[in-house]
Amino acid sequence: APIVAVVGRPNVGKSTLFNRIVGDRIAIVEDMPGVTRDRLYARAEWLNFDFRLIDTGGLEMGNAPFLTEIRAQVELAIDEADVILMVVSGREGLTADDQAVANLLYGADKPVVLAVNKVDNPEMRSDIYDFYSLGMGDPYPVSGSHGIGLGDVLDEIVKHFPDEAAEQDDDAVRFSIIGRPNVGKSSIVNAILGEDRMIVSNIEGTTRDAIDTRFITPDGDEFVMVDTAGIRKRGKVYENTERYSVMRAMKAIDESQVVLMVLDAKTGIREQDKHVAGYAHEAGKALVIVVNKWDAIEKDTHTMTDFENLIRDEFKFLDYAPIVFVSAKTGQRLDRLPDLILAVNDNHQKRVSSSTLNDVLMDALATNPAPSDNGRRLRVYYATQVAIEPPTIVVFVNDVELMHFSYQRFLENQIRAACDFSGTPIKLIIRQRK
Ligand code: GDP
Repeated sequence: APIVAVVGRPNVGKSTLFNRIVGDRIAIVEDMPGVTRDRLYARAEWLNFDFRLIDTGGLEMGNAPFLTEIRAQVELAIDEADVILMVVSGREGLTADDQAVANLLYGADKPVVLAVNKVDNPEMRSDIYDFYSLGMGDPYPVSGSHGIGLGDVLDEIVKHFPDEAAEQDDDAVRFSIIGRPNVGKSSIVNAILGEDRMIVSNIEGTTRDAIDTRFITPDGDEFVMVDTAGIRKRGKVYENTERYSVMRAMKAIDESQVVLMVLDAKTGIREQDKHVAGYAHEAGKALVIVVNKWDAIEKDTHTMTDFENLIRDEFKFLDYAPIVFVSAKTGQRLDRLPDLILAVNDNHQKRVSSSTLNDVLMDALATNPAPSDNGRRLRVYYATQVAIEPPTIVVFVNDVELMHFSYQRFLENQIRAACDFSGTPIKLIIRQRK
């Protein structure tokens, strides 16, 4: 999906605009960390375009001086985005800091759209002409807090989206390796690609730095490791911020079919791990949990079970994800990863016949009768799979209001028990049919 980065000096209203454009998105699953609206990176839509929005102001660089901070933000935008949305404020007018931002953008080989924010009423529209002097083309008046003028800006932005490359016929499974800094991602990459009989080639991505790696295993299975360049450090200032590593992970997840979520056996589970895993779940990706550095901890007979229980407890929404304990250092169990990726990818693409689904439903209803409310009982008529990646099943009922979360969860579990969907989320859509 194309990426739009929002840049501008502090207090011009970048986050307000970001939130307006992203809009309200409701989490599908309870007990999941709030990832639907990340402050730095989020999914957005305009007309038929699905894109990603980055608020570079969400980078959170601590107490860096203005110029260091703004330089990092603009650099991030130039490196990651297809279109840059520069924001200024109509209330304060043109400032030297706006000019400083513009100066950093001049060298960029990316389209820039200029929005003048805080133009809350029509009388203020005549004040926007000063901003022509920034040399960024027509300034678009908007009001983030009132939601005015966004349509015109978005129309202009989508004009600059690159033509999506024609879908290639490709048997390779696209996967990404994600996790906090220092969990051992690059060590795992090097261990996998360094294996003697692996045939490896790099693919230039659409942006300068995005390089994916294609490899073929001795068994002839093809894989594309997404954003291998992002895993290897490039020495940019913003790379050291936690928020950036989260953003990079989300972007890699978007481009993958399967996600390997790497945890560090030594440091355990952190909030950031949940945040990123929650994003993968919401995006409907297949997922494997990889616990690395298994060589580095003292173990007895319970250690693995204990760690597994901890993961199941901390990532309740990922109960479908297989867990594998590896060591990039000794190579322990790394050879299982290719087959695991293939297995969860198969389940992610699995189609189950309507007759199988309806047999499962009948059994489920017999075991655990549907709930009723004020004397009205939920009736479940039939189910049919309408999509893959992830498997998406529509369940027709008499009244959607009568379908409670817990009963839906029960039906999902029955479907999972009957059909092997390990490693993939499945989506149930409840529809009314009289
Ligand atoms: P990344 O930031 O996630 O790519 O992490 P790196 O691959 O750079 O690894 C961070 C540190 O952990 C390095 O010092 C590695 O040598 C070390 N490391 C990585 N994998 C393992 C492992 O399986 N066992 C041990 N003991 N150390 C590891």
